[in-house]
Amino acid sequence: MSGDGGESQLRGLQDVDQQLLDKLEGAGIQSISDLATTTAFELMEDYYSNYDEAARGIDMETISQVVIKAKQKLIADGLLQKEFSSAEKMLEIRGKLVKFTTGSQGFDLFLGGGIETQALTEIAGEFGSGKSQICYTLCVTANMSSSSMSNKGNGVIFVDTENTFRAERVHQIAESRGLDAEEVMKKIFVCKIYYSAHLEAIIRGLAKYIEQYKARLVIIDSIISLHRAEFAGRETLAERQQRLNAILHKLIRLAEIYNIAVVYTNQVQAQPDAFLGNGYDSMRAAGGNIMGHASTYRIFLRKIGHNRLATMLDSPYHAYGQVKFTIGEEGIQDLEKTESNAVEASSECGW
Ligand code: ADP
Ligand code: MG
Repeated sequence: MSGDGGESQLRGLQDVDQQLLDKLEGAGIQSISDLATTTAFELMEDYYSNYDEAARGIDMETISQVVIKAKQKLIADGLLQKEFSSAEKMLEIRGKLVKFTTGSQGFDLFLGGGIETQALTEIAGEFGSGKSQICYTLCVTANMSSSSMSNKGNGVIFVDTENTFRAERVHQIAESRGLDAEEVMKKIFVCKIYYSAHLEAIIRGLAKYIEQYKARLVIIDSIISLHRAEFAGRETLAERQQRLNAILHKLIRLAEIYNIAVVYTNQVQAQPDAFLGNGYDSMRAAGGNIMGHASTYRIFLRKIGHNRLATMLDSPYHAYGQVKFTIGEEGIQDLEKTESNAVEASSECGW
């Protein structure tokens, strides 16, 4: 676990050939944490595409060894959990895990405290189901903890692949919550992306932005839209899934090594074999098994009238659960008690 792993410079790696370190720096690797989130395969690809000259004399095995060394250095410095820990120790560590409030008590409770660091949280749902609204709210609330509403001054990285990020909406959410909106806005760093290859490159190089912006939360809205649009045919499905897999696994490593929370939205697709038209049953999150396996927490959103229903579809420790919420000026909000009961009574959802 490294909150500030970026401070450890590449030069701190011992018993590594200086020339190799020069080459790694040449490839844009600037810290030990950054190196530890990389794979030999990824680095070799970068070398051969951008650093042909520098790549000479470097092989997969050598790079694999230096990546392992980087990980071991982080463990030795106490920035990353040991390879083997007792379950007791792990319980202690999980107890101290940072969780970001969503700004809605009900939603936080549903999540078991808030959005977790060192995890990938997927939010899937139809258009208009509130995926982006949750992301905007998180931009504002990520710097508040559930106990104290103080601003912790961390950065938020927002990767916008659908061209839907609206700064004025985030400003409105911050203002409605009584925060210094200008200060909140300064801590949000938005990257607009139009091509899948650009998304892949940004995620591959995300470590340096996480360090630069002191980010504790990375949001990707949405993770799949570009790949889905560009790799549309059946014949390209395998390649799309492979590329998606590479992105997701990079995100898992970044979340763990930088001790950050990663939240991404996902689109839904109709299930042709479903004959019941009752929401989740007829729709499922896009991205297939690759997405399902990579996401630590999978949340599915549905519209119910003016309100929304979130369902925890998959989690390593949450019991199956649901929460209703609404969207207002403050972003996502708890339902009023009376309204909550009314929705309960009129809900057609049987589960
Ligand atoms: P998606 O799941 O496609 O990302 P959004 O998160 O953008 O959908 O949700 C869009 C919905 O959010 C709108 O239909 C509207 O109900 C609600 N919404 C957007 N802006 C506001 C606002 N300023 N105040 C209240 N509700 C809003
Ligand atoms: Mg959206």
